[in-house]
Amino acid sequence: MSSSLTSLFSEVTKLNPNEPEFLQAVEEFLTSVVPFIEKHDNYKADHLLQRLIEPERVIIFRVPWLDDKGEMQVNRGFRVEYNSTIGPYKGGLRFHPSVNLSILKFLGFEQIFKNALTGLPMGGGKGGSDFDPKGKSDNEVMKFCQSFMLELSRHIGPNTDVPAGDIGVGGREIGYLFGQYKRIKNEFTGVLTGKGQGWGGSLIRPEATGYGLVYFLREMLRAQNMTIQDKVIAISGSGNVAQYACEKAIDLGAKVVTLSDSSGYIYDPNGIDKKKLEYVVELKTIHRGRISEYAQNFNCSFVKGKTPWEVKCDIALPCATQNELNEKDAKTLVQNKCVAVCEGANMPSTIDAVNYFLSNRILFAPGKAANAGGVAVSGLEMSQNSLRLHWSREEVDEKLQIIMRDIHQACLKYGESKEYIDYVKGANIAGFIKIADAMIDQGLV
Ligand code: NDP
Repeated sequence: MSSSLTSLFSEVTKLNPNEPEFLQAVEEFLTSVVPFIEKHDNYKADHLLQRLIEPERVIIFRVPWLDDKGEMQVNRGFRVEYNSTIGPYKGGLRFHPSVNLSILKFLGFEQIFKNALTGLPMGGGKGGSDFDPKGKSDNEVMKFCQSFMLELSRHIGPNTDVPAGDIGVGGREIGYLFGQYKRIKNEFTGVLTGKGQGWGGSLIRPEATGYGLVYFLREMLRAQNMTIQDKVIAISGSGNVAQYACEKAIDLGAKVVTLSDSSGYIYDPNGIDKKKLEYVVELKTIHRGRISEYAQNFNCSFVKGKTPWEVKCDIALPCATQNELNEKDAKTLVQNKCVAVCEGANMPSTIDAVNYFLSNRILFAPGKAANAGGVAVSGLEMSQNSLRLHWSREEVDEKLQIIMRDIHQACLKYGESKEYIDYVKGANIAGFIKIADAMIDQGLV
């Protein structure tokens, strides 16, 4: 670390104790951006980095709700309104027992640059709750969502802050949240994205993160004269991002051999085909079952309590959660001749794992570039809501492909050298420049 990086990072560490995920995201960002700023005087003034690292606003609130037995429950709700320099705060809501301020600040911080990379006018934000939807009835999830929105509705709006889904928040939860917002405000607006098709949702939004991830992977491989065809792919997770990454990878001729959830992973050496994937979608979104049931149903192995990175593959797509791929996993992947790692989840690789990939010259795409397709189509949903129009599937998919290609180009612009394309550096610097230029224009706010 250079001395200016060390002193800034120790200042941030002192200000944000007990926030390891947040500090990890900031460190990764500063490692790319501080050396760039050192060579560009126009970004040295105005405490730009200090202002960027501090969220504009953090809201923490109590969420009381009644369970099916009539007993009172209490959870904690959050919204981190991180940066509104280029548009309304935009970012998902996560419902998971692990949710805390550190996790939401890391997600909100990364969201600023991800949203900037899409080229659409969206600021960065993130929110959620430590509520666990697993094992709850639809009625309990609805009660919780309504109480959560009762408070959140004071802080959001189509021109202020537009949340979406994330872990534990899918179509069902967005429906309950939207219904309650509409009831409280007595207005029908595009205040959330990921809405149902019949009431303002965009086609391709559910698919967008997973599809976008594979489009980005295609660009990475194309830059090396390679294709996805016949590649063996290991995917983690079996939720929204994993399902649609799997679908698009199959469409482009790859063989996907793993999926996982928090209890372990399945390994299907014959490849997950469209029929088997349909089973996974139904299992996860309708029955809310466990991925181990796939192994029983299709007679393949289930490896309990482990992540899929020990499986031999050409490409790894981590699509579950943060820090699910560590340095040991990175070494195994490199040893097994994996050529590319593309992050569908947010910050799934630890800093040591990222450094190992970079020093071994593996193609590595950070989530803030590779999984930006989801928020990009959320941005397109906002545009359609404002215009009161509904674009066709083909139109949205084409726009998504162009956006992912442009993000790839932006990464090349700032990350390409003679020997290697450093996508981490490219994504961080490209995102930073867009926000920093706008912050300079807008003065001290
Ligand atoms: P879902 O809730 O649909 O699925 C999450 C998947 O990850 C599930 O298979 C879940 O397993 C698994 N998982 C969650 N927590 C853990 C854990 N601690 N250890 C192991 N597995 C875990 O979420 P999404 O697919 O929407 O999100 C996945 C990732 O992608 C997240 O990092 C999210 O921030 C990121 N992302 C999502 C976007 C979107 O549009 N949805 C956009 C951009 C990024 P289980 O069911 O057992 O909990």
